[in-house]
Amino acid sequence: MASSNPNSRPYVPLPAAFVERVAAGLPGLAESLDTEAPVSVRFNPGKPFDRPERFAAVEPVPWAGPGEAGYLTERPVFTADPVFHGGAYYVQEAGSMFVGWLLRQVRDALGERLRVLDLCAAPGGKTTHLASVVGPGGVVVANEVIRSRAKVLAENVQKWGSGNVAVVSNDPAEFGSRLPALFDAVVVDAPCSGEGMFRKDYGARAEWSPENVQLCAARGRRIVSDAWGALRPGGVLVYSTCTFNAAENEENVRWIAEELGGEVLTFGDSLPDEGIVPGFAAGRPAGWHFYPHRVRSEGFFAAAIRKSGRLSDGAAGRFRVSKGLTPLSRNERCEVGRWISAGSEIEHFATGGDGTVYGFSTPLAEMVAALQNSRFHLLYSGVQFGEMIRGGLKPGPALALYAGLNRTAVPVADLSEAEALEYLRKGTSPTLLSPDKFCEGLNIVLCRRIALGWNKRIGRRCNNLYPSAWRILHY
Ligand code: SAM
Repeated sequence: MASSNPNSRPYVPLPAAFVERVAAGLPGLAESLDTEAPVSVRFNPGKPFDRPERFAAVEPVPWAGPGEAGYLTERPVFTADPVFHGGAYYVQEAGSMFVGWLLRQVRDALGERLRVLDLCAAPGGKTTHLASVVGPGGVVVANEVIRSRAKVLAENVQKWGSGNVAVVSNDPAEFGSRLPALFDAVVVDAPCSGEGMFRKDYGARAEWSPENVQLCAARGRRIVSDAWGALRPGGVLVYSTCTFNAAENEENVRWIAEELGGEVLTFGDSLPDEGIVPGFAAGRPAGWHFYPHRVRSEGFFAAAIRKSGRLSDGAAGRFRVSKGLTPLSRNERCEVGRWISAGSEIEHFATGGDGTVYGFSTPLAEMVAALQNSRFHLLYSGVQFGEMIRGGLKPGPALALYAGLNRTAVPVADLSEAEALEYLRKGTSPTLLSPDKFCEGLNIVLCRRIALGWNKRIGRRCNNLYPSAWRILHY
């Protein structure tokens, strides 16, 4: 998966005003921000893999689903693990996984085939989690307003390979105005003052100021109110930040419930009893805090608010035909269909203007039509199969990473870790990537049961088809 480097660390003390205004009321918090951060990963349910020792006995994250996520005893070099690049797991703060817990609590009440909007989505931690929680029949629209970050999001979505996500890059206001009541749930993981990252990211300490807290709080409100119209009545907003202060958290939750119209959800005894601290505004419940001195996580806050109004069916089925996509012919559908496994939810195949073939489940096809017909900037959606050339499919990189790939479509080359890393860096070592490892023609490249990409052997020559843009440079 695409990742950013942790900070290299000349020590930065905690901002004095933060200690005074926030940490002073929470004994033990300031000290915890100078301790070692825990390492947690969330596994891809669609991609079981052979786990080395460091993954064998992971301790579960209490609020994650059974077997879904765990703490590692040390931080490995993730970029040196081939299956990390194949989307076998996502490195994610444990607290952030609570968003998945919240969606699971409301999922059944919201109906089948959930449509979820993840409004501030890059680099994709919550998106990939939401995609797993809604399952292949549900849909996640992952939006990131900053275009360069949206590209990283699209890459991570392709590597996760769940096939049920559309990635767009739009301003939040465009959702509220152009897609009224389309979503059963909207997740706003708001850009924030980042106090919860003070342990890992000294840059966040240096940038913090009381003025920035107020700016972030106002921006959080604006983002939610801009997108509020896209949430159907009875639908659920999940609002989260990675900060501790009340202005960005409890006070915003109260403002949303009172000004936009909603009920803050509490979940009673279902809440995991693991040091999660409830937040209150004017004496009423207003979300939950994950404090590093109370739980094994970086700082996090989340709340769920049910939008007032009658639970209705939303807007599914209003959009049938997507402009800019042409359905495949019967013969083409047969050719493309042989690349996916029998249990896949993909039922619709279409080509874009550039001849690229996409596959969609029915709910995702409807969603993509809604997005295209409303002129959203769509960066990626469904599964990009590749290109049709003279009636045959030339498969693209995303198809290899799709969890529903039919692995009998072409021969499989099972590589060792060293060989797989050579493949992922598009290296040319004849010992590590010898033609003898591959069958003549196209091969699926596998490592520890995870598909990484394609490699084509032509006689004694190998053509490494891993995308140059994804090539790993250092490990
Ligand atoms: N949800 C992401 C995840 O789990 O990987 C992390 C999201 S991060 C906390 C907040 C995101 O909001 C950033 O990607 C940032 O670019 C985006 N953002 C910044 N300003 C924004 C704005 N005015 N409206 C919407 N999103 C914004």
